[in-house]
Amino acid sequence: MTITTPNPTLTDSLLVDGAQLIGGEWVPSHTARTIEVINPANREHLASVPRSDASDIDAAVEAAERAFPAWRDLNATARAALLFRWAALIEDNLAELDQLESQEVGRPHWGPPPMAGQLRFIAGQADKVQGVSLPTYSPDALGFTLREPYGVVGAIIPWNAPGPMFVTEVGAAIAAGNTIVMKPAEDAPLTPLALARLSIQAGIPAGVINVVTGYGHEAGAALPAHPRIRRMGFTGSPFTGSLIMAACAENLTPLHLELGGKSPQVVFPDADLDVAVPAMVSGITLNTGQICAAGSRVVVLRSVHDELVERLATQMQKITVGPWNQPVNMGPLINEKQHDRVLGYIEAGKDAGAELVTGGGVPRGGDYGDGFFVEPTLFDGVSPDMKIAREEIFGPVLSVIAVDDEREAIEVANGTDYGLVASVWTRDVGTAIRMSRALQAGQVAVNNALGAAVIGGPFGGYKSSGFGRTMGADSVLEWTQVKTVSMRPATPTL
Ligand code: NAP
Ligand code: MG
Repeated sequence: MTITTPNPTLTDSLLVDGAQLIGGEWVPSHTARTIEVINPANREHLASVPRSDASDIDAAVEAAERAFPAWRDLNATARAALLFRWAALIEDNLAELDQLESQEVGRPHWGPPPMAGQLRFIAGQADKVQGVSLPTYSPDALGFTLREPYGVVGAIIPWNAPGPMFVTEVGAAIAAGNTIVMKPAEDAPLTPLALARLSIQAGIPAGVINVVTGYGHEAGAALPAHPRIRRMGFTGSPFTGSLIMAACAENLTPLHLELGGKSPQVVFPDADLDVAVPAMVSGITLNTGQICAAGSRVVVLRSVHDELVERLATQMQKITVGPWNQPVNMGPLINEKQHDRVLGYIEAGKDAGAELVTGGGVPRGGDYGDGFFVEPTLFDGVSPDMKIAREEIFGPVLSVIAVDDEREAIEVANGTDYGLVASVWTRDVGTAIRMSRALQAGQVAVNNALGAAVIGGPFGGYKSSGFGRTMGADSVLEWTQVKTVSMRPATPTL
């Protein structure tokens, strides 16, 4: 829905209403058009954001270009200090940021958001960007590499975890000395705007971080198409990722893509099901299954299949569903389109002959009101060629596929276009080692789901799940380019 509010307002809280950040100024779109942001649990109006287009993107690129030389030339320790100050402000405001993200994404409280920790990890890398010294053909020459920022870079993020995604992309890009234009998702732009507000408060100079809101096909499409964007980062669906890559190809703009997943959970008969079952169920119901890393396919060795399915069903039935402000495990889906999509996949599963073990319906009435709720859903008897086994559903739908042996488990686990995360549940270290090598995924998690057991693990995909890595120590380096310098005296001395 599009409404018009000509006067942007900054409230005492972190909520930014009707404005975006360009060159340190809170401004509307040049057209003054806006987009309404709602809470998907009850469709309550939260705020409106500018509906920007290519002109606004161009203004933001210009602002970022103005800010670039001084930011690049600020010494790296001083840049790091500003990022640490930003992280501290995020931590001071964590409760409000958590509320805001919960309301726009519609999710119940998960525990403290990881944003401050992620940003501190990145800030610590800012002054550790180093080149190497190079051997030379003669002793009077000197050779070394410099890692330099690209200049003005762009990033586009989805709505499912807007806070952490904003700090990991923006943090790494500016830590390297770039200035950035960020386009958040239309469904969840408020946490990014609040974080940008805190960055200004932290003293990060105007124009270093610019946030332009709007629809993907308008403001979003204009960003990779802009000829003076020197590098892009994109997180979202493979479909949009390929549009972004095509736009980047026009300008020969380098990029990284963080796309979706259809992550397998391979369960061996010696797995500790007391640990595995709750982790698998929470992995597919957290954020209502709207997590790229969600383990959406259970690939189980036949001898433990029946027990596993029974226990998964029992655990799933314990998941409570409701709005963000109640002590429940799972909230609604993000919007009507996603609701229709998930229900469509549930129908497709039934039509293909998969056995619906639990869930599949839409909770209605009472607290569910107008929200986009769906029940946690378990399918058994799924075969690897079914649509629900191959395509990313991005909802709380878990498919169980039985296999005869380890060889078949590997074949099925690797048998989709995706390759984001793969989990293995086993007590046998030999199995764990063989599977860790055999699985085609950017992250392999042994006896944990989502691959979240480590700090600073590089995150990204194999195959259609994308390329490039975020979150790790190298993520800042992804936003740099290498220059080789070779020097000789004006007059050779040897
Ligand atoms: P999406 O439709 O691809 O949208 C992602 C972002 O791209 C949004 O900001 C969207 O803006 C924008 N966009 C849409 N069309 C565009 C276009 N033509 N040009 C430029 N930008 C455009 O993805 P989604 O459905 O929101 O998010 C879910 C997907 O993200 C899933 O596939 C999920 O797996 C993936 N994801 C991946 C990771 C990872 O790290 N690998 C993490 C989280 C999510 P609007 O929404 O405003 O239209
Ligand atoms: Mg979208």
